[in-house]
Amino acid sequence: MNVTNCRGCGRLFNQLSNEKLCPACVKELEDKFQEVKEYLNEHPNASMNEVSKENDVSTKQIKQWVREERLVFAEGSLDGIECEKCGKLIKTGRYCDECKANLTNTLMSAIDKPKVEAPKKKERTKERMRFLDN
Ligand SMILES: [Zn+2]
Ligand SMILES: [Zn+2]
Repeated sequence: MNVTNCRGCGRLFNQLSNEKLCPACVKELEDKFQEVKEYLNEHPNASMNEVSKENDVSTKQIKQWVREERLVFAEGSLDGIECEKCGKLIKTGRYCDECKANLTNTLMSAIDKPKVEAPKKKERTKERMRFLDN
């Protein structure tokens, strides 16, 4: 167990894994999330700036929740977060659909790569013959 400074309030706390916030700040953040969720239920078309202002929460934190797929920008909303690969605006998660598809393809081709073949005996014979010719 490590003792570390909370990123939220700066107090020292016992770190169980690699969390950045003390239990009190985690709870506060969770309460804030519930607040935002309720606000969005009542104002489904609120912009990120409105949510930020009305709930006293940073847009950075809102984007973090979107990244974690806990919040989703409404279809047709002008707000969004950038795809981590190409920078296109997306509504939730880390990558746009295109990059997600590309990532999957890359993974597949990596798996499909042919195995490196062991050198064949035939080649060794050829070498020996060449040696004799010289
Ligand atoms: Zn804290
Ligand atoms: Zn992308």
